[in-house]
Amino acid sequence: ARGKNQLVPFSPSILLSKERSLDLIEHLRTSVERDFEGFSLAFQPQVDAMTGALRGAEVLARWQCADYGPVGPGEFIPLLEESGLIHPVGRWIFASAIRTCSRWVERLPDFSLSINLSYLQLSQPDFLPFARQTLLDMGVDPAHIVLELTESYIASSADAMSQTFEEIRKMGIRLAMDDFGTGYSSLNILKRAPADIVKIDRDFVKGIQNSRFDATFIRFIVALCHDVGIHVCLEGVETQEEYQIVRPMGLDTIQGFYFARPMAQQDFERWAALGRQQ
Ligand code: C2E
Ligand code: CA
Ligand code: CA
Repeated sequence: ARGKNQLVPFSPSILLSKERSLDLIEHLRTSVERDFEGFSLAFQPQVDAMTGALRGAEVLARWQCADYGPVGPGEFIPLLEESGLIHPVGRWIFASAIRTCSRWVERLPDFSLSINLSYLQLSQPDFLPFARQTLLDMGVDPAHIVLELTESYIASSADAMSQTFEEIRKMGIRLAMDDFGTGYSSLNILKRAPADIVKIDRDFVKGIQNSRFDATFIRFIVALCHDVGIHVCLEGVETQEEYQIVRPMGLDTIQGFYFARPMAQQDFERWAALGRQQ
């Protein structure tokens, strides 16, 4: 239930956390009923790996629980999935994100907005029609939109979902393979998978100063992806030192605290100099 194929030994705290989970699900339900009260979006810039220029942003969901205060998406997204609430909340996230970026793309014609999708959302047949209609209503060209799906999900469903992936491509939306390098897929997923972008997981940046393997892995994945026409984004660059190491590696974009943390809409607009007055 915690994701990432973890095994967790039993402890009494699991029962406690079960109680917390059930409690949080009730609060999530109330939030949804109250017109998504407590939910908000954060935007983290994705920048050109060489120049640092803004290329796009990833949308990250935030939730303020009435009782428990801020709860992170690593905790509440699995609860939304477990309870089925991911469908209304996922649609709210998508529509709110598209509405927000509709003003940005007028200023920045090459801007990409990346939206995370839970595996459950795509298996619901009305999600893609909803997405298409939302883009039409808000006048946003699908070429600006990237849907992020995890590597594990894409690897396990590439065959079953191939028609859905094809439909997404026909709509003109791009697909990103998230958390790349953490699943157990073989490298030929890069050949088979429909991804336009690969996001290398931040695990590979964490110890990069001392790990020849991590540095070699990144360079190797960049070479392989570029050979088959896939863009590469590196997540989790936190320090100048890390940036100096990865900058010459040929990556397309970088996302990480070194450039900017996820920000509320207004802070993002200030950061990106997207203010109304300009
Ligand atoms: P993710 O898709 O891998 O998102 C990147 C996470 O890494 C974000 O955490 C972001 O704040 C964090 N991050 C970015 N740069 C750095 C860095 O330099 N250092 C470190 N240590 N962390 C960095 P966040 O916002 O807590 O989101 C966690 C996960 O929750 C996401 O991982 C994603 O799997 C899920 N999530 C968030 N928003 C949504 C959403 O709207 N829908 C779905 N389905 N999942 C979401
Ligand atoms: Ca993501
Ligand atoms: Ca990721």
